[in-house]
Amino acid sequence: MPLVSMTELMQQAKVQKFAVGQFNMNNLEFAKAIMEAAEEERSPFIYGVSEGAIKYMGLDYVVAMAHAAADKSDIPVVLHLDHGSSFDVAMKCIKAGFTSVMFDGSHYSLEDNIRLTKEVVRAAHAMGISVEGELGTIGGVEDDLTVADEDAKLAKPEEAIRFFEETAVDALAIAVGTAHGMYKGEVRIRYNIIEEVAGKVAVPIVLHGGSGVPDEAIRRSIELGVGKINVNTENQVAMTAAVKKVLTEKPDVIDPRKYLNPAIAAMREVVKGKMKLFGSSNKA
Ligand SMILES: [Zn+2]
Repeated sequence: MPLVSMTELMQQAKVQKFAVGQFNMNNLEFAKAIMEAAEEERSPFIYGVSEGAIKYMGLDYVVAMAHAAADKSDIPVVLHLDHGSSFDVAMKCIKAGFTSVMFDGSHYSLEDNIRLTKEVVRAAHAMGISVEGELGTIGGVEDDLTVADEDAKLAKPEEAIRFFEETAVDALAIAVGTAHGMYKGEVRIRYNIIEEVAGKVAVPIVLHGGSGVPDEAIRRSIELGVGKINVNTENQVAMTAAVKKVLTEKPDVIDPRKYLNPAIAAMREVVKGKMKLFGSSNKA
């Protein structure tokens, strides 16, 4: 089927209390591994593509790969811009064939974030495209964006509720203590923030930095209102480990398919595990 926006998926997740996984797509191997996992699990999913990944693959390749994957399947697949930095980038992606965009105005003042997010929502919704907004600052490294832990600001529930009411985003990312990348120490998720905000907004909360968060913390977050979880780093780790293993055991290998097929298989297992954990299996 054609790519879909995440509007209906987010509503389904909110009502049925599961989370849709956003798995970042960094190349063809990611695209295939994620799609294969979804077919096996009968799970809807979101291809997340960052501006850095678009720069790497080229916008045309990104859209063509996502469409090719979705078209031959009956699984709902969303092509979503991850951490879009401007109105123009969001529009460029929508024009190219994306079905969902995130506008990350979290580094602006609350007023500016609301104003800029609203502009993206108005234009996107008119075309049937969903929008994710962000409030508070999520720590860690995302592409070229590094946020030191001391600069990571948790979202204030009353601001998050106002942000949702004024912008009408389809999914709301709020900083609740997770970080991009892998965790060095223990993750401390502020469940009270999730609970307070989720109880007052009509859309799911998005958890960024889902890699390395313990299963129990994921389950509790979903129970409280998280309906979209972003995973990238764990797939990167799985891919790299699989490639290293082949090249270490067989240093003479020169055919990329010999080390990339195991990489696809490794990522497929990671994604299947997440879909089971998120409760999205058999929801397609
Ligand atoms: Zn993120």
